[in-house]
Amino acid sequence: MKFNRSRKLYNEALNLMPGGVSSPVRAFKPHPFFVKKAKGSKIYDVDGNEFIDYCMAYGALILGHANDEVRFEIEKKLREGWIYGTPIELEIKYAKLIRKYYPSIEMLRFVNTGSEATMSALRLARGFTGKEKIVKVEGSFHGSHDSVLVKAGSGATTFGVPNSAGIPIDFVKKTLQVPFNDLELLSDVLEKNEDVSAVIMEPVMGNSSLIIPDKDYLREVRKITQEKDVLLIFDEIITGFRIAMGGAQEYYGVKADITTLGKIAGGGFPIGIYGSKKEIMERVAPSGDVYQAGTFSGNPISLLAGYTTLKILEKRGIVNKVAKKAEKLCEALKDSLKRVEVAQIASMFCIYFGKSPKNYSEALKLDKEAYMKFFWRLIEKKVFFPPSQFEVCFMSDSHSEEDIEKTFNAIIEAYETQNWYQG
Ligand SMILES: *Cc1c(COP(=O)(O)O)cnc(C)c1O
Repeated sequence: MKFNRSRKLYNEALNLMPGGVSSPVRAFKPHPFFVKKAKGSKIYDVDGNEFIDYCMAYGALILGHANDEVRFEIEKKLREGWIYGTPIELEIKYAKLIRKYYPSIEMLRFVNTGSEATMSALRLARGFTGKEKIVKVEGSFHGSHDSVLVKAGSGATTFGVPNSAGIPIDFVKKTLQVPFNDLELLSDVLEKNEDVSAVIMEPVMGNSSLIIPDKDYLREVRKITQEKDVLLIFDEIITGFRIAMGGAQEYYGVKADITTLGKIAGGGFPIGIYGSKKEIMERVAPSGDVYQAGTFSGNPISLLAGYTTLKILEKRGIVNKVAKKAEKLCEALKDSLKRVEVAQIASMFCIYFGKSPKNYSEALKLDKEAYMKFFWRLIEKKVFFPPSQFEVCFMSDSHSEEDIEKTFNAIIEAYETQNWYQG
């Protein structure tokens, strides 16, 4: 397989952008491939290689690349302009559609990215409760702002250490960490800290490989936070419209106080959404005293792409359909792969080089080098998995039976040849 042009572009990019990329995970070794175009389940690089894509823009796409119906709506809309800096009717239609699937959301605000949504949700939680600390789950990812770029320090209940230079120590001190699937430590932290405004978590963790909550874990988290009068924020930026139309809240029957959405909600265009009950959301400016604003917020194109996507999902029951496809592939893989483990929930799945983890510290034990070897073997077989063991694979509506069969064979071959992985 040739990557001449990608290599050339990457060398040029390295002089122009840190790591040659616009977001770190894209910079995999020895070089990323540069993409020319994508359609449906396929992504095409600048050297003419074609891959079946399971990265799907890190979960932003569920219909597949460049869906025709979404494209048609956007092309039509572009003739009327694409940003106005004024309210548009679609905001109302879209807000109502979201409210239908997320009963915990009575009001919401459209923003531009997931990071912005979680940043604003946390500010709102602090503003509403008047308390400054937050509790987050080790290894959960909520974007790249100061409050959440904190990783666990030694001992889960102590202050963490920043994940990045440039984060004021005072922010770190306000961000407490607990392991996923551990109710005792959560209770403990909330017992010992009176000034906690909110617990924020990915209800299904999708940024430290795939970590699925234990039975009743989320329900108990809800109970504990309610008892302690602490807001519960579900970051459903991956799970929203993915594991169910109503996200993890529908799937597990648990209501969050504040919800963040993104990725699928923009139909492939930049978006973030945060929402809550009226009493809480009315604290946001201009009706309230928690300030948040954005030039591109409620962007007509993002809203239209997202709205059109959700209507398609709704009309064709795609969330379940795609889940069944992923389940079929994963069940076959479970039967065939011996030294790795496979987990799947709806259209999210993951092959673990090691034991399927229950929390972040277990995820850290996965064999990341073996995964990357496997990744490149898959690339040779024209299958693009996310370039890190810590990312999740996404099935889309555009993956055909044939794609899935090819993928199954590619995985088995990539895995079996030379017996290179001993577990
Ligand atoms: C992707 C992601 C974010 C950040 O969203 P951006 O649009 O990249 O800023 C936040 N939370 C979760 C769970 C995510 O997966």
